[in-house]
Amino acid sequence: MPARYLIRMDDIAAHMAWDTFRRLEQSFERFGIKPLLGVIPDNRDVSLKQFPECTGEFWAEMRSFQDRGWEIAQHGFQHLYVTRDSGLMGVNNLSEFAGLSYEEQHDKLARGQSLLREHGLRSETFMAPSHSFDVVTLRALKDLGFTTVTDGFAPFPYVADGLIFLPQWLASPRVLPIGVQTFCLHINNMSEQAIETVEHFVAEHHHEFLTFPEARTLATPHSLNRIAGSVLGTAIRSVRSWRYRQRMKAA
Ligand SMILES: [Zn+2]
Repeated sequence: MPARYLIRMDDIAAHMAWDTFRRLEQSFERFGIKPLLGVIPDNRDVSLKQFPECTGEFWAEMRSFQDRGWEIAQHGFQHLYVTRDSGLMGVNNLSEFAGLSYEEQHDKLARGQSLLREHGLRSETFMAPSHSFDVVTLRALKDLGFTTVTDGFAPFPYVADGLIFLPQWLASPRVLPIGVQTFCLHINNMSEQAIETVEHFVAEHHHEFLTFPEARTLATPHSLNRIAGSVLGTAIRSVRSWRYRQRMKAA
């Protein structure tokens, strides 16, 4: 099977870059793509509050996306970083969860889950702020009935620790030779060029997109995929830390 694609949108909250969101919404609707919306249950992040507030009723808006088959992910709880633990993914040294006790993590996740439910949203997928979670997070997620994590370095979806992982290691859409890849869009930071890249990719490749339920059915505990994933993870992390060191040198 040729490569298949998914799209997730991070930092979905009442305050966000609505102009960018509306443009991408049009493009996804036009080509029948059903993205995953990473909704922050109780946004307390001041850096996100600087964006314009929803002019309508935010939660009603989210329910209307859910009714149209877009999927809702729980993006943390309050989007407040309390540890400097990069967790299992090792991407960013910031976390709302990794490094905390089971009780603390379970409590935050459960409170976020209740808030989304109170607003009529169903979510079986977890999207960790800064991609940072640890084995304790995974245990709490499973205990709370989550089925899926939108993260993971591997070519194909996989099952581990009783959860489905839908791989995500690219931010900008591009054609891949194989696999099932989720492109992660941070709409609050997208340039005009980045928006156009998504619009063009979607127009050209919309037949190669999956829905999230379809992607879940492809998850296997296949060891070859996991091994390829750990090699890929190491490569991606070392490129990122090299880039980071270059930036520090230049600064
Ligand atoms: Zn976020």
